[in-house]
Amino acid sequence: MNPILTAGGLNTFYGRSHILFDMGLEVRQGETVCLVGRNGAGKTTTFRSLMNLSPPKSGRVRFMGRDCAGLPPYKMARLGLGFVPEDRRILGPFSVRENLEMGVISGRTGRWNLESVLDCFPTLRRMLDRMGASLSGGEQQMLTIGRALMGNPEVLILDEPTEGLSPVIVGELKELVLRLKREGTTILLSEQNIRFALAVSDSVAVMDKGRAVYTGPVESFRNDAEIQSRYLAV
Ligand code: ATP
Repeated sequence: MNPILTAGGLNTFYGRSHILFDMGLEVRQGETVCLVGRNGAGKTTTFRSLMNLSPPKSGRVRFMGRDCAGLPPYKMARLGLGFVPEDRRILGPFSVRENLEMGVISGRTGRWNLESVLDCFPTLRRMLDRMGASLSGGEQQMLTIGRALMGNPEVLILDEPTEGLSPVIVGELKELVLRLKREGTTILLSEQNIRFALAVSDSVAVMDKGRAVYTGPVESFRNDAEIQSRYLAV
């Protein structure tokens, strides 16, 4: 399969702090790629750089056959990059239905609409009129993924989706990601939960101090105890 998203040579700064050092990655159509690495390794900054929310000072991002240097985040979203941030950004004073409807992106249609998203998230169907703020952490995580799907993304980016969730909800999330994957959704995620990462990913990139220090198929990563102990808190 061809790469749908590639990035290379990304150097990103927050003020004077140099955070990403020649970071690169590749995501192929239908693949699930996971960035792993300790707190502060640069996973979120990589996603923000891809979306141009934190525009890199140098480097290349190619998405859907297009060079994306300098494209504002809303244009990245229109091209089909769907970002689910770590802090979820649910709009508290709006209902579940309204939060979902806000995910619609004009000009982007496809498999996902309110009905198909609710089929995928039966819990959300039962709470359509509840306010976003009244949802539990797990419900908010499902809502934020549902909202991103409403935009019919070509690549779904999930930034540490399991963070702060109970084991039961993590299990549900795993089933959801596996289902999306079976249906052909291309997914780029970051995780500190290595068991989750191993269960859902096809390939893994390990980040350390703003760099990709290892990239390989999930099976090689699973068997590489050296890499796991050197770069991860396992
Ligand atoms: P985490 O799991 O903690 O989210 P991460 O791998 O996603 O980690 P980033 O959030 O990308 O890492 O952070 C990379 C580095 O950039 C860290 O050293 C962090 O302290 C720093 N950093 C993140 N956001 C900012 C910011 N807004 N201003 C300055 N430094 C920042």
